[in-house]
Formats: sequence, C-alpha cells, structure tokens
Amino acid sequence: MTTHTDKTCLYCHTDQTKVPLIPLEYQDRKLWICPEHLPLLIHSPQKLVGKLPDAENLTPYEA
Ligand SMILES: [Zn+2]
Repeated sequence: MTTHTDKTCLYCHTDQTKVPLIPLEYQDRKLWICPEHLPLLIHSPQKLVGKLPDAENLTPYEA
C-alpha cells in the first residue's frame, strides 16, 4: 500500500520539475494542478470527471 503523493497535475500528470504545480486540498487528499489546467477546475469541472472524484458535483464558476 503506497500513499499516492506524486506531485503531478491531476489532469495531465506533468510533474513539478516541468511546471509549477498548485496544491489543492480536496476530500482530505492533497492534489496538484498545473496553471494550464487550473481554469478547468474553475470553469469546466465536468471535464475533470474521471480525473477528480465527484467532479460531476462541482459547479462551474460563472464570471
Ligand atoms: Zn495539467
């Protein structure tokens, strides 16, 4: 049983040697996302279904 602490973007799996990663706390888990995919979390969380648990329950932020 390994704890999954790889610091990679939850969407594209690019690691923090390649891009700056933004740490997230979600459902008692630590996740990381890169600047390129942070807008998905804000505006299009449905695109993270399958990548992020319960992403289908997140509400897109309407600017
Ligand atoms: Zn990414």
